[in-house]
Amino acid sequence: MAKADFYETLGVSKSADEKELKSAFRKMAMKYHPDKNPGDASAEQKFKDVNEAYDTLKDPQKRAAYDRYGHAAFEQGGMGGGFGGGGFQGGGFSDIFEDIFGEMMGGGRQRRSSGGRERGGDLRYNMEISLEEAYAGKTAQIRVPTSITCDVCTGSGAKPGTSPKTCATCQGSGRVRAAQGFFSIERTCPTCHGRGQTISDPCTKCHGHGRVTEERSLSVNIPSGIEDGTRIRLSGEGEAGVRGGPAGDLYIFLSVKPHEFYQRDGADLYCTVPISMTTAALGGTFDVATLDGTKSRVSVPEGTQAGRQFRLKGKGMPVLRSTQVGDLYIQIQIETPQKLTKRQRELLKEFEEISSKDNNPESSGFFARMKEFFEG
Ligand SMILES: [Zn+2]
Ligand SMILES: [Zn+2]
Repeated sequence: MAKADFYETLGVSKSADEKELKSAFRKMAMKYHPDKNPGDASAEQKFKDVNEAYDTLKDPQKRAAYDRYGHAAFEQGGMGGGFGGGGFQGGGFSDIFEDIFGEMMGGGRQRRSSGGRERGGDLRYNMEISLEEAYAGKTAQIRVPTSITCDVCTGSGAKPGTSPKTCATCQGSGRVRAAQGFFSIERTCPTCHGRGQTISDPCTKCHGHGRVTEERSLSVNIPSGIEDGTRIRLSGEGEAGVRGGPAGDLYIFLSVKPHEFYQRDGADLYCTVPISMTTAALGGTFDVATLDGTKSRVSVPEGTQAGRQFRLKGKGMPVLRSTQVGDLYIQIQIETPQKLTKRQRELLKEFEEISSKDNNPESSGFFARMKEFFEG
């Protein structure tokens, strides 16, 4: 079944701004929320679709990719290793969820576990590469500002020699119960903010956060054949977890710059080459530079028509994680001469006078057929 349009899923127009998107998402998510539709599988699916649509459209870069390529923009999954978006959807989902439903759902989802361990945030890095770089692959050095575990207190947040104490208010659970009318509601402990521990003597380097911000240098392997819109996940390279929690992930959002001469369609490349009318009529050759750094000679036979395509086998893009290589298609465009001199004009007129129907079978045939069609 074809996937529904993201805009339709949210019930907004293609020109909807951020605010409209957010409010449409909120409305739809409330309507299809599993808590409101227990056991309703179709509502659950709708809820997932709505989340996916919003997750894509709220991000300007992903939205642009979607506008341009549709769902195909994100069908890069299943590449194994550090690739694919499975983990991201999950992370993105819970973040949006907490953003919007945090207060509404009475404290939102419990992200913290006892002891205040908390998974570090995911980081996103936008990287733009050239088609040549996508062809050859490369190792990119990037600098990522990120918070890492404090080395002085090894992440505990407490001054070396001291240790965090179990919170006296919540006895370490991070939650307190309070009676309100008929109900007893549970909420985050106001003393320790859900950590379950308090620090009386905070570490001086990280001021009790357990993390410090630093810029790290990372080397990222961009494999040959990578496509525009691919996300690369570097597991555990995101922000450090809080108080010994696991680190988040780093996502590289890759875009490939449009090329001056080549258009890409999967592994194949297309290049439109304008040739002169005389080369088209008499035949000739020209050279095209290819991405492998060599040149390929294209022979144009006598009587070549506009739109004719020549295939240069194996001169396209490499296929990711395979030894296959696509082809390069040269599409011929014929340039009609302009700014003729008197002499050129005379020659062309003379040429026309001695031309026969056989020189232009298409155009003479076309008008004859059209006349027959309309006049019977
Ligand atoms: Zn510290
Ligand atoms: Zn507490």
